[in-house]
Amino acid sequence: MIIVMKDHASAEQIAGVVTQVEAQGFRVHLSQGEERTIIGVIGDERPVEVGLFEVLDGVERTVPILKPYKLASREMHPADTLVPLDGLKVGGPRLALIAGPCSVESRSQILETAQAVKEAGATALRGGAYKPRTSPYAFQGLGEAGLELLVEARNLTGLPIVTEAMSEDQVDIVARYADVIQIGARNMQNYPLLNKVGKSGRTVLLKRGMMSTIEELLMAAEYILAQGNTRVMLCERGIRTFEKATRNTTDINAIPVLKRQTHLPVILDPSHGTGKVDYVAAVAKAGVAAGADGLMIEVHSHPEKALSDGGQSLKPEAFAKLVKDIRRIAEAVDREV
Ligand code: PEP
Ligand code: MN
Repeated sequence: MIIVMKDHASAEQIAGVVTQVEAQGFRVHLSQGEERTIIGVIGDERPVEVGLFEVLDGVERTVPILKPYKLASREMHPADTLVPLDGLKVGGPRLALIAGPCSVESRSQILETAQAVKEAGATALRGGAYKPRTSPYAFQGLGEAGLELLVEARNLTGLPIVTEAMSEDQVDIVARYADVIQIGARNMQNYPLLNKVGKSGRTVLLKRGMMSTIEELLMAAEYILAQGNTRVMLCERGIRTFEKATRNTTDINAIPVLKRQTHLPVILDPSHGTGKVDYVAAVAKAGVAAGADGLMIEVHSHPEKALSDGGQSLKPEAFAKLVKDIRRIAEAVDREV
């Protein structure tokens, strides 16, 4: 449930309610708006008398949260959460543009691509060092050597790094090098991994599972938030449907739905959403028009030589053109690049 305080409730009144809520064995989530404070009551509420909190000084009303996710919900936290990513606040007016190769493959590949995306206007560099591949015989990533190369690319360009941790035992090492830990689609419901990145305190980019509903994505985010980590960005990356013309079907609907249901920023990945280089730009633009807070795009300086996802990777020139086009779309929806 949430406890809505009266307009301009005093600090003493708020503290009084918090004390009472905690005395009942609940955790508290405070959302302080300009005029009004909302106190989230976290825990199993079934045994509690709603009236108990309504009589407290400064309380206007209590409202049950019917959704299974609480901390991720807009009711609990009406204002947009802004996730800091270097100088940028993701979820604010300026769009996050996360670009780079699917995998870190070599020093020259990552440095060349990093410089190119930086010049084109990217705000963060992506690149996998630990890769979740369908085939055990496919390139699995460079591991720690890949993380070291990403750091070199960050030193060269100033771009913060987004890279995946596939298992609990990779979280510490990835957190040591990266600015943002990516949780891939295949791991969206790996609950021990979600708990671990929640505890790491590092910013998390949580990708939607290819067979997961929006509600399941929000429940996965809830695991991370429940560990006290509020730096969570959600990522729509396409879902499995009967359609075979594209690798996945980008669920554009998910963007406005998520923006309504949650305060967390929403990033769109049209590269995995389409799986085909020819469609990436169109869907990226659609995502910005639909209200995405940012994009994650695979860019490779030589896609024909890529060790993973070359067929959906833009060349740097195409990415630069896309950034220019996005600037116009962003303006139309009151956003900036
Ligand atoms: C990726 O970002 O390269 C990736 C493996 O994505 P997903 O987990 O969405 O398939
Ligand atoms: Mn990829």
